[in-house]
Amino acid sequence: MSILETLKPEFHSVLPRLASSRYIHFFIIRHSQSFPVFQTDGVLNTARTQAGLNSEDEQSSQMISRLVMFKRKQITPERLSGRQLLRSLGFTDLVEGESNFCDYNGEKTCKQCPDCILYGFGIGSRGAERSKVYSDSAFSLSPYDASHRSFTFNALFEGGTMIEQGKMRSSINELDHVLPEVAFPSVETLRDPTLEGFIYVLGNLLRTRRYGAQESRTGTMINHFVGLAFCDAEVFSNLYFTQAIYDALKQKGSINVPIGEIRKEAAVVAGNLLDREPLRISRMMFDSELAALLEEVTDIYQSEAKLRSILSLLCQQTQTYARTYGALVGKTE
Ligand SMILES: [Zn+2]
Repeated sequence: MSILETLKPEFHSVLPRLASSRYIHFFIIRHSQSFPVFQTDGVLNTARTQAGLNSEDEQSSQMISRLVMFKRKQITPERLSGRQLLRSLGFTDLVEGESNFCDYNGEKTCKQCPDCILYGFGIGSRGAERSKVYSDSAFSLSPYDASHRSFTFNALFEGGTMIEQGKMRSSINELDHVLPEVAFPSVETLRDPTLEGFIYVLGNLLRTRRYGAQESRTGTMINHFVGLAFCDAEVFSNLYFTQAIYDALKQKGSINVPIGEIRKEAAVVAGNLLDREPLRISRMMFDSELAALLEEVTDIYQSEAKLRSILSLLCQQTQTYARTYGALVGKTE
């Protein structure tokens, strides 16, 4: 039996109207692969936080600056990946007579596609749907000082020079960049999932590679999965997760270790923290079982036929939801 089949009891067969205490938590390490820019007004976002969780320990209790990856910087690129996929497979005719199905956060938001229903929308008086994908700001494991560099670069003309038609180019930009291989431990949560919705959100996490400023071409990141848990409530925050990993790695020597080490430690930490949460856990996945699940999901994304059948079911689910409880109540088909 495939792992996905064994998970079936964890899922709803239809999307419920009200929150029903089913949460899937994805424990991931977002890992920069080049020089992403998560900034507002030319500077990277930072926050002062306690290094770890242990107030008795000198290193753990010190305050450090950390890079911050705001929620929107995480979720927006993932939504766009999913929307691109839906469009590429032709799931764009959910609304009759509309060829370009769903305007992202705009006037023509369709209010019924997987993106609208799972990630939510708000268009003033014309309706809103709460997101079923929860995330929060993520913090760098390493201090800001060791995680960024400011680059000055000259914006060249197309010909590769600073001078065009005798005019000197004046735009010399200085931008603060995140360095490669900076880790941002994160928990992303999906509430009240169907199997198909789970595969969609998981796929978006696996397939999104470009985070950070839209105009920058350097924002590649990888999401490393370290664990997954099906619970009846929400769990610890990203910051708490990050601080606990910090403590665990410091205790072994240093936080400056290869990603393989961070992943291993993060999995142990997630398991330990879950043990202390006041909630019921119906299923947890780490290590080889998690790897096998990710392989099954990857296999689905490699097959157009499998993907089509799953996304088509998901579209039916979200449309049914929209017509029964959502913004399309009372509208004829
Ligand atoms: Zn939509």
